[in-house]
Amino acid sequence: MSPQASKSSTPSQQHHNHATRNPSHLSLIQSASSPLNTRPASPYTLNPPIDYDGLSWPSIGARQRLEQTPEEAKAREQKIAGAVRTILEELGEDPDRDGLLETPERYARAMLFFTKGYEDNIGDVIKRAVFEEDHDEMVIVRDIDVFSLCEHHLVPFYGKIHIGYIPNKRVLGLSKLARLAEMFSRRLQVQERLTKQVAMALWEILQPQGVAVVMEASHMCMVSRGVQKPGSSTLTSCMLGRFRETHKTREEFLSLIGKR
Ligand SMILES: [Zn+2]
Repeated sequence: MSPQASKSSTPSQQHHNHATRNPSHLSLIQSASSPLNTRPASPYTLNPPIDYDGLSWPSIGARQRLEQTPEEAKAREQKIAGAVRTILEELGEDPDRDGLLETPERYARAMLFFTKGYEDNIGDVIKRAVFEEDHDEMVIVRDIDVFSLCEHHLVPFYGKIHIGYIPNKRVLGLSKLARLAEMFSRRLQVQERLTKQVAMALWEILQPQGVAVVMEASHMCMVSRGVQKPGSSTLTSCMLGRFRETHKTREEFLSLIGKR
């Protein structure tokens, strides 16, 4: 089946739906039945969740990062730091003053950490934690802390993700659900895609009867600029298989994670 997803948000939380600002995209939105069809050409959801070598939706430079020598890694960090120095200068700052002296290098290392999920291999993430188990009841890990970076502003969005699935003879070590969320959140993201990627990867790994992922997050690009009221959050969900088909199953999941 083709995995689908749904998104719910209040009208004031449509910020990331940048397509609505582009009239040529507007007709696409209006003709599509699902809100997520606003990105019909997204390589992230058209390509298979797991690539031939275990990378999952790798970015264009992911393999280069993975295979770099220590010298290349250092050169990459220096290049980013140089760009940050330019930013500091253009902000009207003095990159040579005491407090900022090592900021470019520090920021470069931070950015590489925030995007380390591109280098994660699904095989390493899952390890040998897929088990045959005669269990067919819902499994839920809720309130997993997630820190990610909004790809439109390169500022953080963070919150909680709740992951549920109904096994089909195979279960995954519980800590791996959090590792999956970590892998996809340590990339440049939009919340809708992050939610969907976690769901699709789990679907691919376990071939379960159903997968449900709900994420609630605060976006610094919105709360800090007053677009979104501080304290409000954006909610996204992706329901696959039985969670999508069966209202009762979906309701049970939502009530178990405290959303009903
Ligand atoms: Zn943003």
